[in-house]
Amino acid sequence: MSEPVAVRRVGILGGTFDPVHIGHLRSALEVAEFMRLDELRLLPNARPPHRDTPQVSAQDRLAMVRGAVAGVGCLSVDDRELARDKPSYTIDTLESLRAELNTHDQLFLVLGWDAFCGLPSWHRWEELLQHCHILVLQRPDADVEPPDALRNLLAARSQSDPTAMSGPAGHISFVWQTPLAVSATQIRQLLASGKSARFLVPDAVLAYIEAHDLYRASN
Ligand code: ATP
Repeated sequence: MSEPVAVRRVGILGGTFDPVHIGHLRSALEVAEFMRLDELRLLPNARPPHRDTPQVSAQDRLAMVRGAVAGVGCLSVDDRELARDKPSYTIDTLESLRAELNTHDQLFLVLGWDAFCGLPSWHRWEELLQHCHILVLQRPDADVEPPDALRNLLAARSQSDPTAMSGPAGHISFVWQTPLAVSATQIRQLLASGKSARFLVPDAVLAYIEAHDLYRASN
């Protein structure tokens, strides 16, 4: 008889990461440890060209995320959305990830509460749970009332203990976290006004920003 294959637990956290900062990284690490994930992948999103900050390419954002997670055992980078030349739908990304995993592997899509509330506007959103569990990062002080469109889904699929989510996909649960008050917008503004982003981003990211002269107003 063949040995049973170990079930892997993989999480994904999407974002523009323009640039990646300690808020993303602490949050990712805490989720990975709390959920005992084998791997949490930061997945940089492609953006429509008209929204791109001109001087920061997708390659720069990717390089910064790679530098940020280098040597962090449970965090990794997945560049599949940047490999395409247009923004991907999350459902396509999940299908593509699923094709690479074993049938019983668990996939967790990590979303902030705001993103979760916007789910009904996503392409083929009702199919997402066929491919993954959804882990919603909720702030202790935040509003807990979901929009009407999600009430039935939550009633049918939510589970109170996120660590008890079983099976490869299909459930929704909440992880309560106090996020660090850092945003990429704030970091871009600091750099554009000639101020330092030190201690808001890992040193490797700061070194990359400086070496490539990113986010400077004069660019
Ligand atoms: P911007 O300021 O450019 O909108 P951002 O800092 O919010 O960017 P994103 O790349 O848009 O960063 O975020 C990716 C993911 O990380 C989202 O799910 C977002 O909710 C989450 N996130 C952003 N900032 C923090 C933070 N300080 N703590 C925890 N999670 C965060």
